[in-house]
This record gives sequence, C-alpha cells and structure tokens, in this order.
Amino acid sequence: MLTIEWSATEGWQAPLIKPFGNMSLHPACSSLHYGVQLFEGLKAYRGDDNRLRLFRPMLNMNRMSKSARRACLPPSLGVKKPGHALLYVILCQAGSYFNNEAEALSLWADPKYTRAWEGGTGDCKMGGNYGCSLLAQYEAVDYGCQQVLWLYGEDHQITEAGTMNIFLHWINEIGEEELATPPLDGIILPGVTRQSILELTRKWDEFQVTERYLTMSQLCSALKQQRVREMFGSGTACMICPIGHIVYQGENLHIPCQDKNTQLTSRIAKELTDIQYGRIHSDWTFLV
Ligand SMILES: *Cc1c(COP(=O)(O)O)cnc(C)c1O
Repeated sequence: MLTIEWSATEGWQAPLIKPFGNMSLHPACSSLHYGVQLFEGLKAYRGDDNRLRLFRPMLNMNRMSKSARRACLPPSLGVKKPGHALLYVILCQAGSYFNNEAEALSLWADPKYTRAWEGGTGDCKMGGNYGCSLLAQYEAVDYGCQQVLWLYGEDHQITEAGTMNIFLHWINEIGEEELATPPLDGIILPGVTRQSILELTRKWDEFQVTERYLTMSQLCSALKQQRVREMFGSGTACMICPIGHIVYQGENLHIPCQDKNTQLTSRIAKELTDIQYGRIHSDWTFLV
C-alpha cells in the first residue's frame, strides 16, 4: 500500500510503500471508498444523583437499524448481504449541555446547495450525507454565519439547520399560535430531540403543534408582520439552540428571540434536562 500523509503544518510528506498489516479496517473496505457506512450519536447524562442515564436509546437503535437497511448493511432485509461489517463505539466526553446564555445562531440560506432530496438518504444517518455538506458549511462561515439553513425545492422550503432539525414558533397564516417543524417526508432526519419536543409540547396542549411545510416566503412575510416568536434548532449535541439571524438573498433577516424568561426554547430545554439529569422521573430515561 502506498501512503502519503498530509498535515496543515507540514503539508504532504514523502510517499511510503508498506504492507497494510493487520489493520482492523481494511483500507479497501467499501466504507472508505463507496461510503457504505452509517453512524449514530447519543449521550449518557450524569444526573444530580450521580447515576448515568441514556435518553430514549431505543429510538437511536431503531434509526440505526433503518439506516443499516438503506445502506444494505446488517441487520439487512436481504438483497446483497455484505461478507463483513464492523460496528464500533467511540466514547468521548461531550461538551456542556444547553447553555442558557448561548448566543443565538446565525444561518446562511442559499438554495444552490441541497442537503437531501426525494428518494435519497437524508432521513438516514449515513456518512455520505455529511461529507458533501462541508463545502456549504465553509461558505456559510465566509458569509459570517455559523451554519447552513438547508432549503429544498423551487419554493425554498425550510428543512434543517446544519445537522439540526428546525422549529418555528409563530402565529401562522390563519392566526393560530403554532409550533411547526417540517414533516418526515424522506428529506428530514428523524431526530430523537425533534420527536421528544413534539411529544412534550403536544402534551402541554397550549398551542398547535404541527408537522408541516414551511417556506422562506412564508417566513419572510411572517417576519414583516411580526408573527414570528422564535426559531430554534434541535439535536442531541446542542439539544435546543435559538436562531437569531438568517442571511437570505442578500438580506440579513432578524429572528426575534423572546425574553429569556418567556422563551419557549428555555422552557423546553428545562423540561428535557430535568428528564435527562434525573430531576424528574420519566420512562424516557434508561439507567446504565
Ligand atoms: C443527528 C441529526 C439530527 C438530530 O437528531 P437527534 O436524534 O435529535 O440528535 C438532525 N438533523 C441531522 C441532519 C442529523 O444528522
């Protein structure tokens, strides 16, 4: 095998020809060159009682199984079963959880890049979905934003923010208070946090909670008419993250973030962390 290492400080090194020995990941494996691979991400939370809890781990396991079927990896439903597969788990210390003082996110929205498409793999956690999103992510940073707001279709549907699901809390077109997130139509990753927020807020029964399409033009007119209350992203990494600005078609759209004390974002974050850290009992946690 010929190898050439590269590093930011030293650049390309001299090529080396050497046997590849007994690496556990064969350099010719299809995970590396065809991207036949998938991943999952979940956290264990050390509670106030010092015990460790997983948050709804079966949802991750079911999603992993779905991604595996899409990638023709075991457990697969037939077709061409691979001869070998490697499942590995990496444990790392995650950063601090929801930071109430965190600055709201800025997003860059340009329809020239598409994260996922109908008939594709956007609803699975497959590696190929992420590598191809990096160029757009770098471009967002060039525009002074932190993440990409992924749009879809001619009507510029709002789909996801970076690798987070997205929620809009607003007064909708027919004057109802609504918490809305795009439906799981194949291009949205079915987030565990997304599902939990939907179930939690539906249980409150205080406003409409809807899975529906949201377009940039609907958002822009709602902003003009001051019908937007808050927008936020959700995912295991950040849990819930308020959105402050969207750069779209040369305009910097300001998204209101309600007062910290009335924020829906803070209220949801508190309810979820109370569960995750064992402050309130819930069958959503799993002691380990
Ligand atoms: C992982 C992920 C999410 C969030 O899913 P959670 O299960 O809530 O962590 C959202 N969007 C994308 C594209 C993701 O990869």
